[in-house]
Amino acid sequence: MKPFDYARAADRADATAQAANSATFIAGGTNLLDLMKLEVMTPDKLVDINRLDLSEISTTDDGGLRIGALVSNSDCAADKRVRSDYPVLSRAILAGASGQLRNKATTGGNLCQRTRCYYFYDTSMPCNKREPGSGCQAMNGFNRIHAILGASDACIATYPGDMAVAMTALDAQVEIENSAGDIRLVPIQDFHLLPGDHPEKDNILEAGDLITAVILPPPVEGKQIYQKVRDRASYAFALCSVAAVIKMDGDTIASAALAFGGLAHKPWRDEAVEELLVGQQPTAELFDKAADRLLAEAHGYGSNDFKIPLTRRVLISILKEATQAGAAV
Ligand code: SF4
Repeated sequence: MKPFDYARAADRADATAQAANSATFIAGGTNLLDLMKLEVMTPDKLVDINRLDLSEISTTDDGGLRIGALVSNSDCAADKRVRSDYPVLSRAILAGASGQLRNKATTGGNLCQRTRCYYFYDTSMPCNKREPGSGCQAMNGFNRIHAILGASDACIATYPGDMAVAMTALDAQVEIENSAGDIRLVPIQDFHLLPGDHPEKDNILEAGDLITAVILPPPVEGKQIYQKVRDRASYAFALCSVAAVIKMDGDTIASAALAFGGLAHKPWRDEAVEELLVGQQPTAELFDKAADRLLAEAHGYGSNDFKIPLTRRVLISILKEATQAGAAV
């Protein structure tokens, strides 16, 4: 591991000032330390934010929930309000990583975790994300876990998380403070970026930006489901996951929010699919049309071709489950 300086942030202003001056934040470090050991990331300085006052989950004035950036994944998944009002979030978090990792991993860090593309972690291989302009070994290599939606000629990596997929279906917002002390709210759908020509950039954060919280809107009615398909039953990233929040009005779909993991460089949401479902009675034909719409632009790269029919089956299965009377919440 390359030597680095270490400092503990006294407060948020100190943390953002140090980050604006090229330091890298560390909280749980569950992904960052691996990347540093492999010298995929080689920060000159780490600023430890673990003692900042960002570990609370509180109710917002409008009845939503404010989840501090340093709330551990375990605490978030176990919180009574999350479990009762946002079960899709609790289930998505518990579908990720292992108990030990969830104890260390934080809400803000989980959003910032980096792709698990094999070639990104292998410094002997070309990778535009790790070394812009060097090429993409995955494009014509082994790409079982790679993207089928929204990829570019520069990168076909996926965002690997579960938590953010559920937060996307819930229309969460990310609260960010910069080194001038300004605070802004960004819809989580706009937080992660598609790779385009700059796959080295995973999200919209600029130097000095600190995630301070994730804000959930007031609870919505309807069934909430998280379904994840992976190569092992636990401690594996999604090949395809779906977070669904679907409300029925009698035998008609009144509202639908669907977000997908394991398919793209960011949690994937396609409003055209949701619009197609709303106001309709749930039928096999409708579900087929929704899958057709979702996958109209899907593209496989060889080893990940199977994800296209897999995603179709997962979507249809979750739509059936969510629209059945008496389905589990
Ligand atoms: Fe690198 Fe992206 Fe290609 Fe993977 S898919 S090798 S992360 S450029």
